[in-house]
Amino acid sequence: MKERYRMKTICNRLLLIFGMLIILPTCTTNYITPFVELSDPNHEEIASIRKTPWDSYVVIYNPTTCDLIGEACGFFRAHAYAHYRLDHSLIRPKYYPPLSEMQADCYVAKYGRQNEIQAAVKLLMDENRDSSLKIHGDPMIRAENIIDCAKQAGNWSDSK
Ligand SMILES: [Zn+2]
Repeated sequence: MKERYRMKTICNRLLLIFGMLIILPTCTTNYITPFVELSDPNHEEIASIRKTPWDSYVVIYNPTTCDLIGEACGFFRAHAYAHYRLDHSLIRPKYYPPLSEMQADCYVAKYGRQNEIQAAVKLLMDENRDSSLKIHGDPMIRAENIIDCAKQAGNWSDSK
């Protein structure tokens, strides 16, 4: 009888731990920071996302470009991650249809950090930015879409 009680207690504890393992990741879902990020100085994009052989994903970014563009880099990393969050197929950045690009931008505008959003908009609107920066799509249209989405989500402040 005593033995049975002990087994029951152990089982209950295991159940509790198991339950927490399932609940924890769900509660701590991070909307903008990818699970795995890799810095690659030879990466030709600012940031992109790739599928791994074990069916996960990794966000790769160029640290030199990131030093150059500062806080805006966070936006582009989050943009790459957004493709995963939005269930887009993970392909090379230039192959995404414009709608997917707008959706990923909008996602970051909604959930991203305000300083990074503002920095990205500034960069997209800056006609004198480094021409070697790989920016896909029309930068002005992207900037306007980002501002619209951020405003709609209450994640935009003009004062900054
Ligand atoms: Zn994209």
